[in-house]
Amino acid sequence: MVKLSKMEEERALRLHREAIVIDTHCDTLMQFLPRSSRTPLVRKLGERSEHGHIDLPRMVEGGVTCQTFAMYTGRSAVQPDALLTALKMVDTFYGEMEANEGIVSVTNPDGIVAAKEEGKACGLLSIEGAEPLMGDISLLRVFYRLGVRMLSLAWNWRTPFADGWHAVRSGSKLPELGVQAIEEMDKLGMVFDVSHLTDGCFWDVADIKEEPFIASHSNCRDVCDHNRNLTDDMITTLADHGGVMGMNFAPAFVDKEKATVERVVDHIDHIVDLVGPDHVGLGSDFDGIRSTPEGLEDVSKMPNITRELVRREYSDEDILKILGGNHLRVFREVIQE
Ligand SMILES: [Zn+2]
Repeated sequence: MVKLSKMEEERALRLHREAIVIDTHCDTLMQFLPRSSRTPLVRKLGERSEHGHIDLPRMVEGGVTCQTFAMYTGRSAVQPDALLTALKMVDTFYGEMEANEGIVSVTNPDGIVAAKEEGKACGLLSIEGAEPLMGDISLLRVFYRLGVRMLSLAWNWRTPFADGWHAVRSGSKLPELGVQAIEEMDKLGMVFDVSHLTDGCFWDVADIKEEPFIASHSNCRDVCDHNRNLTDDMITTLADHGGVMGMNFAPAFVDKEKATVERVVDHIDHIVDLVGPDHVGLGSDFDGIRSTPEGLEDVSKMPNITRELVRREYSDEDILKILGGNHLRVFREVIQE
C-alpha cells in the first residue's frame, strides 16, 4: 500500500472509528461447527486465531460494527442434510454471540446502531443458498423467526427456488417457487440477496421486485471478467432499485493477475463512476475464500479500505456510506423488525 501522510492517516482512522462498518458476507460459522471431515478446524469467535479471517478480537481491531454471518450448506447440488446443518449453525451463532461480551446478535438496523453506541460489535444471520428451505416456503418463515434477515436463493447450483451461476437452466428463468419466495420475503421484511444467481435469474428478480435488493458479495464484471461479478447493466439496474453491492475480496473476483486492496477499491471507483456513491458497500467473503488480496489478509485489515478511499480523496460523507451507511439504508427500507 502507498503510505499516507500523517494528516491522511489521522483522517482515515477517525472516519473508520466513526463509521458503522457493515460486512454483508462471511462464511465463518462453518469454522465454528463441531469437528467433521469438511471442517477439520474448530475455532471460537472469542479467541484470536492464526487461522481463517474472522474472530472477535480481529473484528474489534478491524473496526467492524456489523458482520453478517451466512449459513452456507451447499457444496454440491443436492444437500439432504442442509436443514439440519443450518439449524446447527443457528445454534452455533447464538451460542457464540452469548458467550462473548463484546458482540450481540441483531435482527434490525436499530440493533446495529445501538451496538455501535454501546461500543460493541454485532452479528446478523443470513442464508447463502436456499438449500436449507428444502423447497418449502414455510421454512422461510421459520428461519425468519429464528432471526435470519437476509437470504440468497441459490449458491453455485440449482435449488427449487433459483439457479446458481454453475447451473444455468435453459433460459435460466426464475421458477415459480422463486417468485413466491420474493413475495414472502417482501411481506416478512427480509433482505433479498442476488449474489451467485445466474444472469437470467438476476433479471427476473429485477423485473419482479420493487423493493431494494442487494448483492451481498459481488464485484464488477467490467473491472474483472467473472460470471460471479455484475455487468454494468446489472449494476445500473440494482442502483435504480435503490440497492447496494458488497465488495468481495475473493482474488478471482478482484483481479485475474494480482488482487490487492487497491484493486478492490478500483471496483468501488467503477461503481461510484457508474451510479454514484449510494450503491456500494463491503461483503468480504472472509472465511469462504482460500486466499486474500494483498492488504486485506483478514478482518483486522479492514481499515486499509478506508486508507485507500482517503488516499483517493473521497469525501467523509461518501466514505461513511461505503463503509456501511449504504447497507444500513437498505436495511432500514426493507427490514420491519
Ligand atoms: Zn458466496
